[in-house]
Amino acid sequence: MDLLGGTGGPVRVAGRELGRGELFGRASAVAAEIRGAGAAAVHATASLETVVAVVGGLLAGVPVVPLPPDSGPDERAHILADSGAGLLLAARGTGTGAGTGGPPLVPVDDLPPAGPHAEEAVPGDATALILYTSGTTGPPKGVPISRRAIAAGLDALAEAWAWTPGDVLVHGLPLFHVHGLVLGVLGPLRVGSPLVHTGRPKPEAYAAAAHDHAGTLFFGVPTVWSRTVADPSSAEALRGARLLVSGSAPLPVPVFERLAELTGHRPVERYGMTETLITISARADGDRRPGWVGTPLRDVETRLVGDDGGTVPPDGETPGELHVRGPQLFKGYLGRPGDTARSFAPGGWFRTGDIACADADGRHRIVGRASTDLIKSGGYRIGAGEVENALLAHPGVREAAVVGTPHADLGEQVTAYVVADGVGERQLIDFVAGRLSVHKRPRVVHLVGSLPRNAMGKVVKTRLGED
Ligand code: ATP
Ligand code: MG
Repeated sequence: MDLLGGTGGPVRVAGRELGRGELFGRASAVAAEIRGAGAAAVHATASLETVVAVVGGLLAGVPVVPLPPDSGPDERAHILADSGAGLLLAARGTGTGAGTGGPPLVPVDDLPPAGPHAEEAVPGDATALILYTSGTTGPPKGVPISRRAIAAGLDALAEAWAWTPGDVLVHGLPLFHVHGLVLGVLGPLRVGSPLVHTGRPKPEAYAAAAHDHAGTLFFGVPTVWSRTVADPSSAEALRGARLLVSGSAPLPVPVFERLAELTGHRPVERYGMTETLITISARADGDRRPGWVGTPLRDVETRLVGDDGGTVPPDGETPGELHVRGPQLFKGYLGRPGDTARSFAPGGWFRTGDIACADADGRHRIVGRASTDLIKSGGYRIGAGEVENALLAHPGVREAAVVGTPHADLGEQVTAYVVADGVGERQLIDFVAGRLSVHKRPRVVHLVGSLPRNAMGKVVKTRLGED
C-alpha cells in the first residue's frame, strides 16, 4: 500500500531544502541500494539525509530503525542488536560511532539520485518502522509499526486538525520518535504540505519560520512551549499561525494559558504513545481546555478500567487505566513476548499504563502514568499533574515534578522537586496551600538546579533525587 503522497511542497531541514521530486529521486537511490535488507538503521540526525534515508526505506519496503544520533554506545548497541538492522544509513562523516562489529555503513549522500520511483508493492501489514519508546520508565522497547497503522493514524489526524496541503508545518523535534518522525515528517509527506524543520526546537527558530516561511501548523513538546512563553517576542511571532499543537507529555496549565495570551491561540493538545501512535486529540473545530487532550481520533476506541477491573463512569473525575483499540495500534514489542502478553487485555485492548478520566462527551484528561504519576497517600489517589500545575502557578517556579515517596503512616507522601528563582521551600508549601486540598499538598519540597529529562524533554521521574 502507498504510504507517501506523490506530490506536495518542499522539505526543509536545518536550512537546506529539497523539492518533492528531488527528495524522491534521492530516496529511490537509497531504496535501490538497500532493497531486500531485513531492516535498515538510520543515524537520525536533524538533517535532510535522515528524511531521504527514511523515505528510501519506505520506498523499498525495508523496515527503518531510527537511531538517536547522540545515543551512547550502549543504547546504540542495544537498538542495533535488538532490531537486527543489517545496515546503517548515514550522511557521510556521521554515524561512524557504530564501532567495530556494527552493521556496514551506507552513506546516503554519496548516491547519485535515481529517477522518481513508486513505492514497492508492500502489504499494509508489513513493518514500516521499528521505533524505540522514549525510555522514560525503563530501557527503550522496540515497537514495530505497520504501514497501515501509520496511514490510519495520519489520516485521522489530518481530519481532526483540518491539516491540508495548504498548511506549512514547522517543528524542530528529534527525528527518531513518533512525534518528530511519524507526525513531523511522514505527516507532511502523506498530506502534501511543506515541512520546515528548524534543526532544534527553539522559540526563536519557530518565530523565524513563522516569518520567513509563513508557517501555519507548529508542533512542540511542553518544554518547547514553556520556553516559548518565556520569550514573549518569539511567542507573539506565532500570532499568524493556524494551530499550535502540544504532545508527548502533559502541558502544564499555566503554560497553556500564557501561550494562549501571547499568541492568541489556545493550543491543541494530543495524547499518544509509540505503541498506539496518536490516540486522542483536541480538534481544530472543537474546544481546547487546559489539562484536557480531547477526544479519541476516528476509528479509535478507548475505555477506562478501574482497580476492580470494571469500566469507570465518564463523570470527568473518576480515574481509570486507559485501554486503546484501533487501526493504528502496534501488534507487539519486538522480541519481548512477555511484555507483549502483559500489555494486552482480552479483546485486543492495549493497556497503556496511563491513568485518565473522561467526561460524557468522550473528552479525556490524562492524569499520568500509573507507575509514577498516581500517588497513593493516606487512602487518597492524587494525580501528580494537579500538584505540579499548582506549583507552576507561582511566578518564581520554572519547573516542577511531583512523585510519591515512601511514608510510614500514609503509604506515600507527596514530594516535589522544583526549579525556582528567589522562592524558598516554605513559601512554596504556603503558596500551594491556598490552591490544593490538604491531602494533595506536598509535604516535602526539594529545590533543585534542573530536572532529569530525556531526548523528548520528558521528566524521567525514576531518576529524581539521584544526585
Ligand atoms: P517508555 O515507554 O520507554 O518508558 P515513554 O512512555 O515516554 O517511554 P513514548 O511512547 O514516547 O515513550 O511516550 C508515551 C507516553 O507519553 C504516554 O504513555 C504518556 O505517559 C505520555 N504522554 C504522551 N502524550 C501526553 C499528553 N498529551 N499528556 C500527558 N502525557 C502524555
Ligand atoms: Mg511508554
